[in-house]
Amino acid sequence: MFCQHSIFPLGSMMDMPDRCAVCSQKMELEIGFYYGTGYVSYGLTVGLFVLYAIFFGVVFGFSYKDNSVYWYLGTGIAGVLLLQPWLMRLSRVLYLYLFVRYGQRKEGK
Ligand SMILES: [Zn+2]
Repeated sequence: MFCQHSIFPLGSMMDMPDRCAVCSQKMELEIGFYYGTGYVSYGLTVGLFVLYAIFFGVVFGFSYKDNSVYWYLGTGIAGVLLLQPWLMRLSRVLYLYLFVRYGQRKEGK
């Protein structure tokens, strides 16, 4: 649903065609339709941090005696920043799914 298959070049990473090439579903249902994706990617990020906390706790363990909490936060933030382009795209895909059911086309205003 994006013009480029890859995320590079980053500048036009979020470009989308006006309509789906397969079913001609309108991609932007209304002006500013995708502003709400900020909340979707926020939720995904929080979810990733929770999963990473479980993983980190199991593999490395948390302790007050060393810097494990800072290592967790540092590597977690770095990871989320690296994943940001995919998180932004995934948010749009999920967001469109919320408003348009599969096999049911919806027109914008
Ligand atoms: Zn389609």
